[in-house]
Amino acid sequence: WSQLPVCIQEANALEELQSELTCPVCLELFHDPVILECGHHFCQVCIIQCWEAKADELSSCPKCRNVIWFT
Ligand SMILES: [Zn+2]
Ligand SMILES: [Zn+2]
Repeated sequence: WSQLPVCIQEANALEELQSELTCPVCLELFHDPVILECGHHFCQVCIIQCWEAKADELSSCPKCRNVIWFT
């Protein structure tokens, strides 16, 4: 049992938490967050703007490019 790995784990968890709280489109804290099928989060406004900008294409996740199917 050593202190060091615990500290590293905590630092990673904090970094992960911050990236989970930040929208990859506007790089701000989420506003009205929505979750896509792939598990990525975006502001509702950001994902709508993204998809409206390329209305002729299939809707896909701006982060991992997975196509989102609406059933
Ligand atoms: Zn956003
Ligand atoms: Zn994604």
